[in-house]
Amino acid sequence: MNRNHCAVTADLNRYLKQLDQEDAREHAIERLAADLMLQEYAPDTEANVIEALLETTDKVATAITPHLKAVINEKNAAIRANLYALIGKVIVDRTLSYWEDTAREQAIRDIDNADCPYCYDQGCRKCEGDY
Ligand SMILES: [Zn+2]
Repeated sequence: MNRNHCAVTADLNRYLKQLDQEDAREHAIERLAADLMLQEYAPDTEANVIEALLETTDKVATAITPHLKAVINEKNAAIRANLYALIGKVIVDRTLSYWEDTAREQAIRDIDNADCPYCYDQGCRKCEGDY
């Protein structure tokens, strides 16, 4: 009974440790992706807007075409304004999600290739040899 209890505790501890590691990994991915989006993957630079729209041209065209058709034929100013807003929203959403996905993919590659399993090469006492 006691041995069984120990086995269950060991399994639980292994499981909890794995959860902690997965949590730390996910946290590191999110932090790195957020950093990337403030730097080279910033969605609000001209070059990155161009890249995002070029990479998603088909999806953008599919999403805005019905709004474009409607806005061309619409006489009501308020409805036209809403259609313009919808077209703008497609462009903003596509650009943001393209760079969010790209930053996350890069962050995962960087984390998976990191040498230090504790801080993922962000600089900790273990990887800097002070431990
Ligand atoms: Zn480290």
